[in-house]
Amino acid sequence: MSVLPRHLLPDTAEVADDGWLTIGGCSVRDLAAEFGTPLFVYDEEHLRARCREAVEAFGHGNAYYASKAFLCRAMARLAYDEGMKLDVATGGELHVAISAGVPSSACALHGNNKSVAELRMAIEHRVGHIVVDSFDELDRIDALMAEAVGPTPKVLLRITPGVEAHTHEFISTGQDDSKFGFNLANGDAHRAVERARRSSNVELVGLHCHIGSNVFVASSFGKAAEVMASFAAPFDLPELVLGGGLGVPYVEGEEAPTLTQWGNVIRDACDALGVTSRVGVEPGRSIVAASAITVYTLGTIKPIPGVRTYYSVDGGMSDNPRPVLYGSGYESFLPRAPFADRTAEGRLVGKHCESGDVLLRDAKLPADATVGDLLATPVTGAYGRSMGSNYNQITRPPVVFVRDGDARLVIRRETFDDLLATDVG
Ligand SMILES: *Cc1c(COP(=O)(O)O)cnc(C)c1O
Repeated sequence: MSVLPRHLLPDTAEVADDGWLTIGGCSVRDLAAEFGTPLFVYDEEHLRARCREAVEAFGHGNAYYASKAFLCRAMARLAYDEGMKLDVATGGELHVAISAGVPSSACALHGNNKSVAELRMAIEHRVGHIVVDSFDELDRIDALMAEAVGPTPKVLLRITPGVEAHTHEFISTGQDDSKFGFNLANGDAHRAVERARRSSNVELVGLHCHIGSNVFVASSFGKAAEVMASFAAPFDLPELVLGGGLGVPYVEGEEAPTLTQWGNVIRDACDALGVTSRVGVEPGRSIVAASAITVYTLGTIKPIPGVRTYYSVDGGMSDNPRPVLYGSGYESFLPRAPFADRTAEGRLVGKHCESGDVLLRDAKLPADATVGDLLATPVTGAYGRSMGSNYNQITRPPVVFVRDGDARLVIRRETFDDLLATDVG
Protein backbone atom coordinates (compact mmCIF):
# COMPACT_ATOMS: atom_id res chain seq x y z
CA MET A 1 0.00 0.00 0.00
CA SER A 2 1.16 3.51 -0.72
CA VAL A 3 -1.15 6.02 0.90
CA LEU A 4 -0.58 9.74 1.33
CA PRO A 5 0.64 10.35 4.92
CA ARG A 6 -2.02 12.40 6.73
CA HIS A 7 0.51 14.70 8.43
CA LEU A 8 1.56 16.16 5.07
CA LEU A 9 -1.88 17.77 4.70
CA PRO A 10 -2.90 21.07 6.33
CA ASP A 11 -4.29 20.87 9.89
CA THR A 12 -7.97 21.24 8.98
CA ALA A 13 -7.92 18.78 6.06
CA GLU A 14 -10.77 16.26 6.16
CA VAL A 15 -12.49 13.86 3.83
CA ALA A 16 -16.14 14.77 3.17
CA ASP A 17 -18.97 12.25 2.81
CA ASP A 18 -18.60 12.37 -0.97
CA GLY A 19 -14.94 11.34 -0.59
CA TRP A 20 -13.46 14.72 -1.59
CA LEU A 21 -10.79 16.49 0.41
CA THR A 22 -11.90 19.59 2.29
CA ILE A 23 -9.61 22.22 3.80
CA GLY A 24 -10.93 24.89 6.13
CA GLY A 25 -14.38 23.41 5.56
CA CYS A 26 -14.16 24.05 1.78
CA SER A 27 -14.28 21.23 -0.75
CA VAL A 28 -11.27 21.25 -3.05
CA ARG A 29 -13.66 20.40 -5.88
CA ASP A 30 -15.65 23.61 -5.27
CA LEU A 31 -12.48 25.67 -4.88
CA ALA A 32 -11.14 24.44 -8.22
CA ALA A 33 -14.51 25.11 -9.86
CA GLU A 34 -14.62 28.65 -8.50
CA PHE A 35 -10.99 29.73 -8.88
CA GLY A 36 -9.66 27.42 -11.60
CA THR A 37 -6.35 25.55 -11.59
CA PRO A 38 -3.49 25.71 -10.85
CA LEU A 39 -4.49 27.06 -7.46
CA PHE A 40 -2.74 27.52 -4.12
CA VAL A 41 -5.06 26.72 -1.20
CA TYR A 42 -3.81 27.91 2.20
CA ASP A 43 -5.36 26.74 5.47
CA GLU A 44 -5.71 29.92 7.52
CA GLU A 45 -6.16 28.10 10.85
CA HIS A 46 -2.96 26.18 10.20
CA LEU A 47 -1.05 29.40 9.44
CA ARG A 48 -2.35 31.08 12.57
CA ALA A 49 -1.58 28.05 14.73
CA ARG A 50 2.04 27.96 13.53
CA CYS A 51 2.51 31.69 14.11
CA ARG A 52 1.12 31.32 17.64
CA GLU A 53 3.33 28.31 18.29
CA ALA A 54 6.42 30.31 17.27
CA VAL A 55 5.43 33.25 19.47
CA GLU A 56 4.73 30.89 22.36
CA ALA A 57 8.07 29.10 21.91
CA PHE A 58 10.24 32.21 21.71
CA GLY A 59 8.25 34.93 23.43
CA HIS A 60 6.34 37.93 22.11
CA GLY A 61 8.48 40.15 19.89
CA ASN A 62 11.15 37.51 19.36
CA ALA A 63 9.68 35.56 16.44
CA TYR A 64 10.17 37.09 13.00
CA TYR A 65 8.28 35.56 10.08
CA ALA A 66 10.78 35.17 7.20
CA SER A 67 8.54 36.68 4.56
CA LYS A 68 10.48 35.41 1.56
CA ALA A 69 8.92 31.97 2.12
CA PHE A 70 5.52 33.35 1.10
CA LEU A 71 4.49 36.99 1.09
CA CYS A 72 1.37 38.88 0.20
CA ARG A 73 -0.46 41.50 2.21
CA ALA A 74 -2.88 39.01 3.77
CA MET A 75 0.03 36.87 4.96
CA ALA A 76 1.96 39.84 6.34
CA ARG A 77 -1.11 40.98 8.27
CA LEU A 78 -1.88 37.49 9.54
CA ALA A 79 1.65 36.96 10.89
CA TYR A 80 1.66 40.38 12.52
CA ASP A 81 -1.82 39.89 14.01
CA GLU A 82 -0.64 36.65 15.57
CA GLY A 83 2.23 38.41 17.30
CA MET A 84 5.10 37.87 14.88
CA LYS A 85 7.41 40.52 13.48
CA LEU A 86 8.53 40.40 9.84
CA ASP A 87 11.91 39.58 8.34
CA VAL A 88 12.22 41.22 4.91
CA ALA A 89 15.22 40.87 2.63
CA THR A 90 14.59 43.48 -0.05
CA GLY A 91 12.98 46.85 -0.57
CA GLY A 92 10.15 45.03 -2.34
CA GLU A 93 9.41 42.78 0.63
CA LEU A 94 9.55 45.81 2.93
CA HIS A 95 7.14 47.63 0.61
CA VAL A 96 4.61 44.78 0.70
CA ALA A 97 4.86 44.55 4.50
CA ILE A 98 4.36 48.27 4.96
CA SER A 99 1.49 48.41 2.49
CA ALA A 100 -0.16 45.60 4.45
CA GLY A 101 -0.20 47.92 7.44
CA VAL A 102 2.60 46.20 9.36
CA PRO A 103 4.45 48.93 11.28
CA SER A 104 7.97 49.33 9.95
CA SER A 105 9.21 49.13 13.54
CA ALA A 106 8.09 45.47 13.42
CA CYS A 107 10.21 44.79 10.30
CA ALA A 108 13.85 43.73 10.15
CA LEU A 109 15.84 44.22 6.95
CA HIS A 110 18.18 41.51 5.69
CA GLY A 111 20.27 40.95 2.58
CA ASN A 112 23.88 40.30 1.61
CA ASN A 113 23.89 43.15 -0.91
CA LYS A 114 21.44 45.78 0.24
CA SER A 115 21.43 48.74 -2.12
CA VAL A 116 21.84 52.31 -0.99
CA ALA A 117 18.17 52.82 -1.89
CA GLU A 118 17.10 49.87 0.30
CA LEU A 119 19.17 51.09 3.23
CA ARG A 120 17.80 54.60 2.79
CA MET A 121 14.25 53.21 2.76
CA ALA A 122 14.92 51.20 5.94
CA ILE A 123 16.42 54.18 7.77
CA GLU A 124 13.72 56.60 6.60
CA HIS A 125 10.99 54.21 7.67
CA ARG A 126 12.78 53.49 10.95
CA VAL A 127 12.63 49.71 10.64
CA GLY A 128 13.06 47.79 13.90
CA HIS A 129 16.58 46.81 12.94
CA ILE A 130 18.86 46.27 9.98
CA VAL A 131 20.92 43.10 9.92
CA VAL A 132 24.25 44.34 8.57
CA ASP A 133 26.03 41.82 6.39
CA SER A 134 29.35 43.37 5.32
CA PHE A 135 31.93 46.12 5.80
CA ASP A 136 30.75 47.66 2.52
CA GLU A 137 27.28 47.93 3.99
CA LEU A 138 28.66 49.77 7.04
CA ASP A 139 30.31 52.16 4.53
CA ARG A 140 26.96 52.67 2.77
CA ILE A 141 25.24 53.43 6.08
CA ASP A 142 28.02 55.90 6.98
CA ALA A 143 27.47 57.71 3.69
CA LEU A 144 23.70 57.84 4.19
CA MET A 145 24.02 59.10 7.74
CA ALA A 146 26.34 61.83 6.50
CA GLU A 147 23.36 63.01 4.43
CA ALA A 148 21.18 62.89 7.56
CA VAL A 149 18.54 60.64 5.98
CA GLY A 150 17.05 59.63 9.32
CA PRO A 151 17.67 58.58 12.90
CA THR A 152 20.59 56.31 13.80
CA PRO A 153 19.53 52.79 12.80
CA LYS A 154 19.59 49.92 15.24
CA VAL A 155 21.68 47.15 13.73
CA LEU A 156 22.54 43.52 14.28
CA LEU A 157 25.66 42.07 12.67
CA ARG A 158 25.26 38.86 10.71
CA ILE A 159 27.94 36.40 11.75
CA THR A 160 28.94 33.31 9.79
CA PRO A 161 29.51 30.87 12.63
CA GLY A 162 31.18 28.09 10.61
CA VAL A 163 28.45 25.58 11.47
CA GLU A 164 27.38 23.05 8.84
CA ALA A 165 23.61 22.88 8.49
CA HIS A 166 23.44 19.45 6.80
CA THR A 167 21.10 20.60 4.07
CA HIS A 168 21.27 21.34 0.34
CA GLU A 169 24.39 23.30 -0.68
CA PHE A 170 22.31 26.15 -2.18
CA ILE A 171 20.56 26.78 1.13
CA SER A 172 23.50 26.24 3.49
CA THR A 173 24.59 29.64 4.72
CA GLY A 174 26.49 29.20 7.97
CA GLN A 175 29.71 27.69 6.62
CA ASP A 176 32.90 29.77 6.21
CA ASP A 177 32.69 29.69 2.40
CA SER A 178 29.56 31.83 2.14
CA LYS A 179 28.51 35.11 0.58
CA PHE A 180 26.67 35.95 3.79
CA GLY A 181 27.88 37.69 6.91
CA PHE A 182 31.12 38.33 8.81
CA ASN A 183 33.29 35.24 9.23
CA LEU A 184 33.97 34.25 12.78
CA ALA A 185 37.00 32.15 11.94
CA ASN A 186 39.08 34.80 10.17
CA GLY A 187 38.45 37.60 12.67
CA ASP A 188 36.08 39.65 10.49
CA ALA A 189 33.29 39.19 13.03
CA HIS A 190 35.42 40.71 15.79
CA ARG A 191 36.52 43.57 13.58
CA ALA A 192 32.91 44.28 12.60
CA VAL A 193 31.76 44.39 16.22
CA GLU A 194 34.61 46.77 17.11
CA ARG A 195 33.79 49.05 14.20
CA ALA A 196 30.05 49.07 14.88
CA ARG A 197 30.57 49.74 18.59
CA ARG A 198 32.79 52.74 17.83
CA SER A 199 30.51 54.10 15.12
CA SER A 200 28.06 56.90 15.80
CA ASN A 201 26.18 56.01 12.61
CA VAL A 202 24.75 52.73 13.88
CA GLU A 203 23.48 51.54 17.23
CA LEU A 204 24.73 47.99 17.66
CA VAL A 205 22.00 46.06 19.48
CA GLY A 206 22.87 42.47 18.74
CA LEU A 207 24.27 39.65 16.67
CA HIS A 208 22.64 37.37 14.15
CA CYS A 209 23.29 34.08 12.40
CA HIS A 210 21.33 31.85 10.02
CA ILE A 211 22.92 28.50 9.28
CA GLY A 212 20.69 27.42 6.41
CA SER A 213 17.26 26.28 5.40
CA ASN A 214 15.28 23.04 5.63
CA VAL A 215 17.49 21.78 8.46
CA PHE A 216 16.23 18.58 10.10
CA VAL A 217 18.98 18.07 12.64
CA ALA A 218 18.01 19.93 15.80
CA SER A 219 21.55 19.66 17.16
CA SER A 220 22.83 21.90 14.32
CA PHE A 221 20.77 24.73 15.85
CA GLY A 222 22.09 23.93 19.33
CA LYS A 223 25.63 24.06 17.94
CA ALA A 224 25.04 27.43 16.26
CA ALA A 225 23.48 28.80 19.45
CA GLU A 226 26.55 27.72 21.44
CA VAL A 227 29.03 29.23 19.00
CA MET A 228 27.09 32.49 18.84
CA ALA A 229 26.51 32.70 22.58
CA SER A 230 30.21 32.31 23.36
CA PHE A 231 31.18 34.85 20.74
CA ALA A 232 28.53 37.32 21.93
CA ALA A 233 29.17 36.96 25.67
CA PRO A 234 31.94 39.59 26.11
CA PHE A 235 29.95 42.26 24.23
CA ASP A 236 26.87 42.07 26.44
CA LEU A 237 24.39 43.09 23.71
CA PRO A 238 20.62 43.00 24.25
CA GLU A 239 19.73 40.77 21.25
CA LEU A 240 20.79 37.50 19.73
CA VAL A 241 18.89 36.33 16.64
CA LEU A 242 19.55 32.78 15.52
CA GLY A 243 17.84 32.84 12.11
CA GLY A 244 15.34 30.41 10.67
CA GLY A 245 15.84 27.19 8.82
CA LEU A 246 13.72 24.64 10.64
CA GLY A 247 12.91 21.91 8.13
CA VAL A 248 9.54 20.34 7.38
CA PRO A 249 8.63 16.86 6.11
CA TYR A 250 7.76 16.94 2.41
CA VAL A 251 7.52 13.22 1.66
CA GLU A 252 6.69 9.94 3.33
CA GLY A 253 9.27 8.97 5.94
CA GLU A 254 10.67 12.46 6.61
CA GLU A 255 10.47 13.87 10.12
CA ALA A 256 11.36 17.27 11.51
CA PRO A 257 11.29 18.87 14.96
CA THR A 258 8.22 21.03 15.69
CA LEU A 259 8.55 24.77 16.34
CA THR A 260 8.10 24.01 20.04
CA GLN A 261 10.88 21.40 20.03
CA TRP A 262 13.13 23.77 18.10
CA GLY A 263 12.43 26.41 20.75
CA ASN A 264 13.42 23.96 23.48
CA VAL A 265 16.72 23.07 21.82
CA ILE A 266 17.62 26.73 21.44
CA ARG A 267 16.47 27.66 24.94
CA ASP A 268 18.44 24.78 26.51
CA ALA A 269 21.59 25.76 24.64
CA CYS A 270 21.22 29.41 25.60
CA ASP A 271 20.39 28.64 29.25
CA ALA A 272 23.40 26.35 29.53
CA LEU A 273 25.62 29.21 28.39
CA GLY A 274 23.97 31.79 30.63
CA VAL A 275 22.71 33.94 27.73
CA THR A 276 20.89 36.99 29.08
CA SER A 277 20.04 38.64 25.73
CA ARG A 278 16.62 38.32 24.12
CA VAL A 279 16.82 35.36 21.79
CA GLY A 280 15.02 35.76 18.46
CA VAL A 281 14.39 33.49 15.48
CA GLU A 282 13.20 33.89 11.89
CA PRO A 283 11.14 30.88 10.81
CA GLY A 284 9.72 30.91 7.27
CA ARG A 285 9.19 27.44 5.87
CA SER A 286 8.08 25.92 9.19
CA ILE A 287 5.27 28.50 9.40
CA VAL A 288 3.85 28.23 5.89
CA ALA A 289 5.03 25.11 4.02
CA ALA A 290 2.54 22.52 5.24
CA SER A 291 -0.36 24.98 5.36
CA ALA A 292 -0.93 24.83 1.60
CA ILE A 293 -1.54 22.47 -1.27
CA THR A 294 -1.33 23.20 -4.97
CA VAL A 295 -4.27 21.96 -7.03
CA TYR A 296 -3.65 21.18 -10.70
CA THR A 297 -5.68 19.61 -13.49
CA LEU A 298 -4.23 16.48 -14.98
CA GLY A 299 -3.89 16.87 -18.74
CA THR A 300 -1.93 14.69 -21.11
CA ILE A 301 -0.98 11.23 -19.89
CA LYS A 302 1.72 9.65 -22.05
CA PRO A 303 2.65 6.04 -21.38
CA ILE A 304 5.91 4.93 -22.99
CA PRO A 305 5.96 1.14 -22.71
CA GLY A 306 9.09 -0.15 -21.04
CA VAL A 307 10.19 3.38 -20.12
CA ARG A 308 7.71 5.29 -17.95
CA THR A 309 4.43 7.20 -17.96
CA TYR A 310 4.42 10.99 -18.06
CA TYR A 311 1.57 12.74 -16.28
CA SER A 312 1.32 16.43 -17.29
CA VAL A 313 -0.39 19.12 -15.23
CA ASP A 314 -1.38 22.70 -16.06
CA GLY A 315 1.43 24.33 -14.02
CA GLY A 316 4.99 23.26 -13.30
CA MET A 317 8.35 24.87 -12.58
CA SER A 318 6.73 28.34 -12.72
CA ASP A 319 4.65 27.64 -9.60
CA ASN A 320 7.09 25.26 -7.92
CA PRO A 321 10.73 25.57 -8.95
CA ARG A 322 12.06 23.65 -5.93
CA PRO A 323 12.28 20.23 -7.62
CA VAL A 324 14.35 21.75 -10.43
CA LEU A 325 16.49 23.92 -8.14
CA TYR A 326 17.21 21.50 -5.32
CA GLY A 327 15.96 18.14 -6.53
CA SER A 328 13.28 18.40 -3.83
CA GLY A 329 10.73 15.63 -3.45
CA TYR A 330 6.97 15.96 -3.09
CA GLU A 331 3.97 13.65 -2.82
CA SER A 332 0.91 13.69 -5.07
CA PHE A 333 -2.71 12.63 -4.59
CA LEU A 334 -6.17 13.03 -6.09
CA PRO A 335 -8.41 15.35 -4.04
CA ARG A 336 -11.44 13.19 -5.00
CA ALA A 337 -9.85 10.24 -3.13
CA PRO A 338 -7.03 11.63 -0.97
CA PHE A 339 -6.14 8.39 0.79
CA ALA A 340 -6.62 5.97 -2.12
CA ASP A 341 -3.86 3.41 -2.63
CA ARG A 342 -1.38 4.79 -5.16
CA THR A 343 -0.40 1.84 -7.32
CA ALA A 344 0.49 3.68 -10.55
CA GLU A 345 3.92 5.20 -10.97
CA GLY A 346 5.16 7.82 -13.35
CA ARG A 347 6.78 11.21 -13.71
CA LEU A 348 4.71 14.27 -12.90
CA VAL A 349 5.67 17.12 -15.20
CA GLY A 350 4.51 20.64 -15.98
CA LYS A 351 3.60 22.38 -19.23
CA HIS A 352 6.80 24.36 -19.77
CA CYS A 353 8.88 23.89 -22.89
CA GLU A 354 11.73 21.95 -21.40
CA SER A 355 12.36 18.44 -20.19
CA GLY A 356 13.68 19.79 -16.89
CA ASP A 357 10.18 20.90 -15.95
CA VAL A 358 9.60 18.11 -13.46
CA LEU A 359 7.45 18.33 -10.33
CA LEU A 360 7.82 14.72 -9.09
CA ARG A 361 10.46 12.46 -10.59
CA ASP A 362 8.80 9.36 -9.17
CA ALA A 363 5.15 10.15 -8.60
CA LYS A 364 2.69 7.65 -7.19
CA LEU A 365 -0.95 7.97 -8.15
CA PRO A 366 -4.09 5.87 -7.93
CA ALA A 367 -4.32 3.58 -10.97
CA ASP A 368 -7.57 5.19 -12.10
CA ALA A 369 -6.06 8.71 -12.33
CA THR A 370 -7.33 10.07 -15.61
CA VAL A 371 -7.27 13.08 -17.90
CA GLY A 372 -9.30 15.89 -16.34
CA ASP A 373 -8.81 14.74 -12.75
CA LEU A 374 -7.78 17.28 -10.16
CA LEU A 375 -4.35 16.39 -8.80
CA ALA A 376 -2.71 18.00 -5.77
CA THR A 377 0.73 18.29 -4.23
CA PRO A 378 0.88 18.98 -0.49
CA VAL A 379 3.44 21.07 1.48
CA THR A 380 3.71 23.72 -1.22
CA GLY A 381 3.14 26.76 0.98
CA ALA A 382 6.79 27.85 1.15
CA TYR A 383 9.08 28.92 -1.69
CA GLY A 384 6.52 28.01 -4.36
CA ARG A 385 4.39 31.07 -5.08
CA SER A 386 7.25 33.24 -3.82
CA MET A 387 9.89 31.72 -6.11
CA GLY A 388 7.51 31.36 -9.03
CA SER A 389 7.97 32.97 -12.42
CA ASN A 390 6.19 33.86 -15.62
CA TYR A 391 8.32 31.48 -17.68
CA ASN A 392 6.63 30.81 -21.03
CA GLN A 393 4.45 33.86 -20.23
CA ILE A 394 2.39 31.66 -17.98
CA THR A 395 -0.02 33.58 -15.75
CA ARG A 396 0.77 32.93 -12.10
CA PRO A 397 -1.86 31.08 -10.07
CA PRO A 398 -4.15 32.67 -7.50
CA VAL A 399 -3.95 32.12 -3.75
CA VAL A 400 -7.00 31.47 -1.59
CA PHE A 401 -7.11 31.41 2.19
CA VAL A 402 -9.77 29.02 3.47
CA ARG A 403 -11.27 29.00 6.94
CA ASP A 404 -14.57 27.89 8.51
CA GLY A 405 -16.19 27.14 5.16
CA ASP A 406 -15.17 30.47 3.59
CA ALA A 407 -12.69 30.92 0.76
CA ARG A 408 -11.02 34.32 0.53
CA LEU A 409 -9.10 35.21 -2.62
CA VAL A 410 -5.91 36.98 -1.49
CA ILE A 411 -3.95 36.94 -4.77
CA ARG A 412 -5.97 36.78 -7.97
CA ARG A 413 -4.86 34.83 -11.02
CA GLU A 414 -2.73 36.88 -13.36
CA THR A 415 -4.29 37.82 -16.68
CA PHE A 416 -2.74 38.08 -20.13
CA ASP A 417 -2.90 41.87 -19.69
CA ASP A 418 -0.81 41.55 -16.51
CA LEU A 419 1.86 39.99 -18.70
CA LEU A 420 1.95 43.27 -20.66
CA ALA A 421 1.72 45.58 -17.63
CA THR A 422 5.45 46.33 -17.57
CA ASP A 423 6.00 45.94 -21.32
CA VAL A 424 6.21 49.50 -22.58
CA GLY A 425 7.57 48.62 -26.03
C1 LIG B 1 15.63 32.36 4.43
C2 LIG B 1 15.96 32.94 5.76
C3 LIG B 1 15.18 32.63 6.86
C4 LIG B 1 14.04 31.64 6.80
O1 LIG B 1 14.44 30.37 6.48
P1 LIG B 1 13.39 29.16 6.57
O2 LIG B 1 14.20 27.99 6.16
O3 LIG B 1 12.31 29.46 5.61
O4 LIG B 1 12.91 29.08 7.97
C5 LIG B 1 15.47 33.25 8.05
N1 LIG B 1 16.50 34.13 8.16
C6 LIG B 1 17.27 34.45 7.10
C7 LIG B 1 18.35 35.43 7.28
C8 LIG B 1 17.04 33.87 5.87
O5 LIG B 1 17.82 34.17 4.84
